[in-house]
Amino acid sequence: MKATAQLRQEIDGADGILQEARRLHSKMRHLDYSLSESLAFAPFTLRINELKRQKKAVILAHNYQRPEILFGIADFVGDSYGLSVEAKKTNADIILFCGVKFMAETAKILNPHKKVLIPSLEAGCSLAESITVQDVRELKAKHPNAPVVSYVNTYADIKAESDACCTSANALKVIEAMPGNEVIFLPDVYMAKNLQKLTKKKLHYWSGKCIVHDTFTREQVLEYRRAYPDIKVLSHLECTSSVIGVSDMAGGTSDMYNYIKNNSAKRFMLVTECGMSDLLRARFPEKEFITPCSVCPYMKKINIENVLWALESGKFEVKVPDETRAKAQRALERMIGVGK
Ligand code: SF4
Repeated sequence: MKATAQLRQEIDGADGILQEARRLHSKMRHLDYSLSESLAFAPFTLRINELKRQKKAVILAHNYQRPEILFGIADFVGDSYGLSVEAKKTNADIILFCGVKFMAETAKILNPHKKVLIPSLEAGCSLAESITVQDVRELKAKHPNAPVVSYVNTYADIKAESDACCTSANALKVIEAMPGNEVIFLPDVYMAKNLQKLTKKKLHYWSGKCIVHDTFTREQVLEYRRAYPDIKVLSHLECTSSVIGVSDMAGGTSDMYNYIKNNSAKRFMLVTECGMSDLLRARFPEKEFITPCSVCPYMKKINIENVLWALESGKFEVKVPDETRAKAQRALERMIGVGK
């Protein structure tokens, strides 16, 4: 009898895994994921989704994450702005962040009483790591009348030194909302130069760069334009001005999504991290996405195995000292208050 019950349990378990694999496959088939690949992810996504319910946890995932995370376990997928708003709204007890450290820190700053987890401490960011508090203080001393606007891709101590934060979706709006006619904008030098063309305010900037967007070139875009004359080129604001100059649209990842949604063109070139094209291929299977594709090694530190480990172990918990958190929160609230 015992053997029969055990066998029944095993059959039910296998059925559950197959069903889950079919669910994953239906969502990821436009990305060329086979059913057998989906089958490999299924035991993980099943267990993670079960643990989420048990622990009252929510998973927030950035657009650049792996497809099995975006389509298998995420409760909310978005850009830095959308994820910040979502982090502020959630009533879950635990926020598990599938993104990089500054994003998880942002969730913690906006939710001081919730437990925020990130599955890997190696999920950094070249922009966030490009600047120190000392650097910001020196900039402030040099430009005492200029308020500081920091891109959300910064750590909590830099946000705490800032008057407001912004994302690529609302950077111009935040700059325009600042008093006076000059602004210290940090840390992304390319974004600052791109924004300088759109505002009359004088921007003082830092030298940070995104290692992903720094790889794209104007020549690459022109080559694709020659090969596909009907293509629409969408570039991230973290790209150089010469790339933006030959693009049809420049903005953040949510701007790209909206542009594609509202545009009748059939073929798009995405000048941003590879994960974004996977996401869009699945959302708009009738459109074609061509991408020079550069992978963010930090974003890809998060995977389905370490997400499961993080939920099971309750690690790594993100902590921000109270004083820093309170100051950083003011800068973030200002960013959310300005809106997109
Ligand atoms: S894509 Fe660039 S800006 Fe985004 S996390 Fe990676 S290094 Fe940082």
